[in-house]
Amino acid sequence: MTQTQQVTTATEGDVVVALAGNPNSGKTTVFNAITGARQHVGNYPGVTVEKKEGQRRVDDTIVHVVDLPGTYSLTAYSLEEVVARNFVINECPDVVVDVVDASNLERNLYLTTQFIELGVPVVIALNMMDAAEARGRDIDVELLSELLGVPIVPTVASRGGGIEDLVAVMVETARAHRVPGREVRYGRELEEHIAEITQSLEHEEALAGLPARWLAIKLLEDDDEVRDLVAERLDDGGDLLRRVERTRAHLEAVIGDDAEMALADRRYGFINGACAEATTTSRAQRIDWSEAIDNVVTHRVLGIPIFLALMWGMFEMVFRLGAPPMRWLESAFGWLAAHLAFWLPDGPLQSLLVDGVIGGVGGVLIFVPQILLLFLAISLLEDSGYMSRAAFVVDRAMHYVGLHGKSFIPMLIGFGCTVPAIMATRTLESRRDRLTTMLVAPLMSCGARLPVYVLLAGAFFPPYLAGKVIFGIYLLGVLLAALMARVFRSTLLKGPMAPFVMELPPYRMPTLPGTLLHMWERGWCYVRKAGTVILAASVVMWALLSWPEPPAHAPADGLPAIAHTAAGHIGRGLEPVLRPLGFNWKVGISLVAGLAAKEVVVATLATTYSLEESAEGSTAALTEALRADPTFSPLVAIALMAFILIYPPCIAAMAVLWRESGSSKCLAIAVAYTTSLAWLVSFIIYQGGRLLGWG
Ligand code: GDP
Ligand code: MG
Repeated sequence: MTQTQQVTTATEGDVVVALAGNPNSGKTTVFNAITGARQHVGNYPGVTVEKKEGQRRVDDTIVHVVDLPGTYSLTAYSLEEVVARNFVINECPDVVVDVVDASNLERNLYLTTQFIELGVPVVIALNMMDAAEARGRDIDVELLSELLGVPIVPTVASRGGGIEDLVAVMVETARAHRVPGREVRYGRELEEHIAEITQSLEHEEALAGLPARWLAIKLLEDDDEVRDLVAERLDDGGDLLRRVERTRAHLEAVIGDDAEMALADRRYGFINGACAEATTTSRAQRIDWSEAIDNVVTHRVLGIPIFLALMWGMFEMVFRLGAPPMRWLESAFGWLAAHLAFWLPDGPLQSLLVDGVIGGVGGVLIFVPQILLLFLAISLLEDSGYMSRAAFVVDRAMHYVGLHGKSFIPMLIGFGCTVPAIMATRTLESRRDRLTTMLVAPLMSCGARLPVYVLLAGAFFPPYLAGKVIFGIYLLGVLLAALMARVFRSTLLKGPMAPFVMELPPYRMPTLPGTLLHMWERGWCYVRKAGTVILAASVVMWALLSWPEPPAHAPADGLPAIAHTAAGHIGRGLEPVLRPLGFNWKVGISLVAGLAAKEVVVATLATTYSLEESAEGSTAALTEALRADPTFSPLVAIALMAFILIYPPCIAAMAVLWRESGSSKCLAIAVAYTTSLAWLVSFIIYQGGRLLGWG
């Protein structure tokens, strides 16, 4: 299942099918129906967008199916779109199967027009015919097929309906290399300029194999990737681009709108025309439930409270239902550790397995129930269609910090865990938005930091205040995230906001298998990706905390054994930097350990205060020890909580940030800004507090 084969392993005579479609059109369902879910998952070469591949045998032919990322369009605004179109252009699949949601025909056909424009063989899988029917929409499939110049096979993928026909038609289209029989026409004014640019491009050797008309249209749309390609490959690329620029300016003056908008309008015109002709809507079923629900949940006034209530309900559900299995897992790992400690002789191996591996990996795995529940809730909200409404509701507020409503979903996930939060940024259209969201997502305080807050707030504040202090820390994170997003959007990641429609797909009753599949895909990523990194980090941390071994006799300096280990030296070395924040060297060690995983901060503090860990009363004992330490105070506790909130997230999160951004510069920026911001904020809190006499 987890083979990471990179290239389609097709040989002569095989057929390669690329499966494309809007998100939620039923692509995955069609993929599974065609291939019987025999798939391997890898990444597209060069980028970390997941690539699913499966096979199907038809007579003597092996049909390879590649699931392209779900997209609404093929512009260069989002990574998914670039990946999808580059696959179609560079890998030349024998046929593109475009999965179209029949109950949302007009919007889905927009992507179809782009494939038609590319001039590649296309077959439309007109999916969700049942939903279209339920909404009272009657589609004349034959006529629509004729109007679009593309074969259409109606399907109900969730019940396997039409899949065999689809397989037959797609293989036939591939073998005959049948390209679309129509073209989207853009009207006299635009066509004149398209023709002119097409002509200049047609005879260029350097662009052979790329459809010239498509390139011309993309140039008029000012598509970054195509512009770079032309500049790079053509000797006089600069000349041509300047001419295109003049044409764009001219068009804007004539049409009063930029060329991109004008082209999009024409495509929609083409689609609307085709749909008006080939579909009828029966009067009886005109009540539009989607619209009725939308009137309430995206209401200007009611929208926000409804949204907040749902979020609150979601977190309640996750934490309440997640707590018991989390306790079971905790005791299971405790049992395992105790037994290993009993059966293995004392020594490094026992210590490595018990303290290092079980302590580290177990500490992460116990969060799996909560993570799965969180993803279950998110999958439900997404599959039903509510998530896009939530993004719509917060969109306006997000614009203040230079982001879109869509960035909000990854940030929300960040309250659970930063790793999936960073992965969820894949849904963002523009790379700038994506990077900004990734950079600030760690400021959403993740679940692993909570135990530290609970310890510190509990130790230094009366019960009635402790909860409010913790809430204040969460709020500080949100405010800093907003601030930093603004800073990044107006400096390093400056640029216009990518224009896009806030999609409001129709509501749909989520199906159990679909929801479970989505939950599982994401949960497994957490276990697999975080698990491997955490394992390595735990072993490294364990080694740092175990070596060099302390002198055999009681050390004369009165320091606990841990002070002599490598981690101890690091902690003591950091003391001069941390002293202005009010932190002692013991805190320094815990902060270093926290880089591996925030879960280990409390355990490391307990070790540095020479307490027996894993005892039931260890939290109480640690609380006492902290209160008795003269260098600690409520002020130091707040400064420390702020520091732990802001300073670099765990190794797993950093590794994922690196992989997903594909840039070590981005990782370096993340580490640098979180470290300095943490220091600065803690410094202000501690020194400011002392000035006010709270020290
Ligand atoms: P993807 O995002 O395009 O991969 O979409 P999925 O395959 O995950 O499908 C989204 C939802 O639509 C799932 O809950 C499917 O069970 C459901 N679905 C898929 N095909 C059909 C269909 O033909 N009819 C209906 N009513 N639901 C479908
Ligand atoms: Mg899918």
